[in-house]
Amino acid sequence: MNLIPINYNLTFEPDLEKFRFKGKEILTFELKPHSAKTSRGEVKQIVLDAVDLKIVNCQLLMAKKNIVNSFKLVAKEEKLIISLSRGVKQGSYELRIEFEGILNDKLAGFYRSKYIVDGKEKYLATTQFEATDARRAFPCIDDPSYKATFDVTVVIDRRLTAISNTLPIESKKNNEKTVLKPSLTSGVKDAVSTMQNKKKIIKFDRTPLMSTYLLYLGVGEFEFLEEKYKKTLIRIATTPGKSVYGKFALGCAKKSLDFFEKYFDYLYPLKKLDLIAIPDFATGAMENWGAITFRENALLFYSGKSSKATMQRIAEVVAHEIAHQWFGNLVTMNWWDDLWLNESFATYMGNKVVDHYWPEWKVWDQFVTDTVFGGMALDSLKSSHPIKVKVKNTAELEELFDEIAYEKGGSILRMLDLYLGEVVFREGLRNYIKYFIYRNAEAKDLWNCLEKVSDKPVVEIMQKFIKQVGFPKISVREKNNVLFFQQRRFLFEGKDEKSVWKIPLVLRNGKDIMRQIYLPEKKLTLRFNPKEKLATINHNYSGFYVSDYSSVLLKSMAQSSRFYSDSDKIGLIHDLFALILAGEKNLEELFYLINTFFSQENSSIVLHYIIAKLTGIYLLLRDERSKKFATQFSKRVLDRIVGYEPKASENILETFLRVAALSSLTLFNDNEVAFFVNKKFISYLEDEKSLHSDLRSIVYSSAIWFDDRNYKVLKKSYEESIIQEEKAKLLTAMGFSKNRDRIKETLEYIMSPKVPFAFLPYAVSSASRNPYAKEDSLDWLIKSWPRLIKSSGGLANMLLRKILKSIVPVCGVGYEKEIEKFLRENKISGLERTIDQTLEELRINSRFAHRYKINIPSMSQV
Ligand SMILES: [Zn+2]
Repeated sequence: MNLIPINYNLTFEPDLEKFRFKGKEILTFELKPHSAKTSRGEVKQIVLDAVDLKIVNCQLLMAKKNIVNSFKLVAKEEKLIISLSRGVKQGSYELRIEFEGILNDKLAGFYRSKYIVDGKEKYLATTQFEATDARRAFPCIDDPSYKATFDVTVVIDRRLTAISNTLPIESKKNNEKTVLKPSLTSGVKDAVSTMQNKKKIIKFDRTPLMSTYLLYLGVGEFEFLEEKYKKTLIRIATTPGKSVYGKFALGCAKKSLDFFEKYFDYLYPLKKLDLIAIPDFATGAMENWGAITFRENALLFYSGKSSKATMQRIAEVVAHEIAHQWFGNLVTMNWWDDLWLNESFATYMGNKVVDHYWPEWKVWDQFVTDTVFGGMALDSLKSSHPIKVKVKNTAELEELFDEIAYEKGGSILRMLDLYLGEVVFREGLRNYIKYFIYRNAEAKDLWNCLEKVSDKPVVEIMQKFIKQVGFPKISVREKNNVLFFQQRRFLFEGKDEKSVWKIPLVLRNGKDIMRQIYLPEKKLTLRFNPKEKLATINHNYSGFYVSDYSSVLLKSMAQSSRFYSDSDKIGLIHDLFALILAGEKNLEELFYLINTFFSQENSSIVLHYIIAKLTGIYLLLRDERSKKFATQFSKRVLDRIVGYEPKASENILETFLRVAALSSLTLFNDNEVAFFVNKKFISYLEDEKSLHSDLRSIVYSSAIWFDDRNYKVLKKSYEESIIQEEKAKLLTAMGFSKNRDRIKETLEYIMSPKVPFAFLPYAVSSASRNPYAKEDSLDWLIKSWPRLIKSSGGLANMLLRKILKSIVPVCGVGYEKEIEKFLRENKISGLERTIDQTLEELRINSRFAHRYKINIPSMSQV
């Protein structure tokens, strides 16, 4: 027999002083036979998912008699096992459970989050259920394919507000029922009534049919900013005093709803959409249906303080989460092995929305440098994994929220969109949404929908890119007007001759002619007109592969350089460097390319990429040449292209470029930058508001780098600021001191209660890019490991993953044996793959460092 949940009637009573909650559940379910043959079966045991709860009572009534014999929680398996005194047959039933739990600090399940108002410490309670933490808040079938409806009620203090997926409908007082209409201006407040004591009851409208991981409940002193989009009420919810900073995000939400309603040709199905800023949050945001939660600095924009980078991030994250309201919430993956599709789709569509409304940000070029290359970096490792993996248990699951799920998956979808054409791609998606609405689907259902509308081999292309680990390198040679293509898996380390992909390629010729070809085999030859000079075999970096051109071809391609798009140029540098790291090309070739092809480059994003690449090489090699080139490029950028001072009318990419140049020159102790930063910092000390929002991050970091006395001042600002974005910038700066005592102080400080766990990676990632902090970062990792492990598990593992990935591959160079021994001996469940990956990255960096420079001294020894 199969237990199918139909409805969860849930009442929660959270206590924000003792940090506990009580719960009552009425689960209406049906028992259905697995197949017609077994229909005569009886059930004497009911098993639900539950963990970290105390089950107080459990009842299943039949003919007014409770037939529950006993119930017990099996902690290890996260199950609640209910034994019945008699067998029950096919039919529908009601199970009543009373339970208690703790508002935990794990950032998962039903948890508490701390914040400060007027110097006072306060708490709110909030939920985070994806992937499998709904079972921490109530017993359920915690599986995305078991969709049900939910009726949520909360019993809370009168001074508090509650938010769930739907709006409140009803209040109860002396057994009377009054249906209340929530008004636009007063939101939740009218729709409640008071009870005896200081409590009130809020009952929320029934949710649509949905998966458990999308349920939401938040309780606290929320404050709202609201507006209507057609019939949907959109609200920004924050802790007191912050809702006014949600204005930009509110606009983004309206834009995204409008975009997706048209794109999917299906209206947003709920009456309201909340965007809730949570002070303590493990990831960027979570797409709970109608009640999206965010980390504060991914939602709130403080005009005068927030940077353009934050503005872009908010637009992107809001669009990403709203894309999920259809793709993920309305149509849901069958099982977590298709989680990647959920995430990569939202990642891709988030960028589509941003590009639609802010074309001047050129997000597709940024998508190439961040998303495509981000996915490739991980996927070039032997220890990478296929996009689609078998998920056996929940510990394995959290580790899959990685660059393969988001970045590689998103890049593959972009490749497909560009290959099929926007109109056809959208048509296929619309069919998919309509067909599977309120149900579950698998990735292959989507490929089928796309193949049907396109008549192109979508299924075979996707099967290879999804089920096979890694991605291809395509080598191209030319002889007598014939191009020879050959593919092989690209790896930094080792070889794989077997894998073959089915690849759509977009060629561009010198005369600005594009040609689509399809490479389904290992090799392909293509005749071409010698007058149409080849410019690239991966136009706009639309395909997920590295291109390896023969030197003859590369030289002739240089003549077509005026036809190159920015992404083409970035791609050329990226692929060459990837081949250098793999030991297939020489660093000389990169320096030559940068020094000739790009010496007069004016594009902001290309220059930004070059400066970042050269600085990255310097951090590994500490060599004079990358330092010289990085300095030359950065100086030209500041003196002749963007200037030191931000201009009101400038493009976001110019803003990013300035920060990159200032940051690179800070590392090289440039006097002019030191002077500029000092001047800015002195004005900042006189008037905090004088510092331009787009210079804040770089001025904080450089001020500490150039002058040790500034450390104390900025540490104090960190403690006083209530803006998460500022706190993140200040903490990042505190990892960027040349004084080792300061570095130690910072690394100790981040383990104190003054720094929330979710903020650790900010300081750690800047310390790992600080040549003076190499040894201390490693020491810190080893020393703090036992405490870090204590906070591990669930989503917290994502933070540990970030920490390991920043420190080990860069700071570990020169200490390979020690760090490997340590990580192998101190394994941590759910991070096995991450440890393999970071150690492999370290080996690759070490090999590169030793190839070009045998001995890497630490900065403190120079
Ligand atoms: Zn997502």
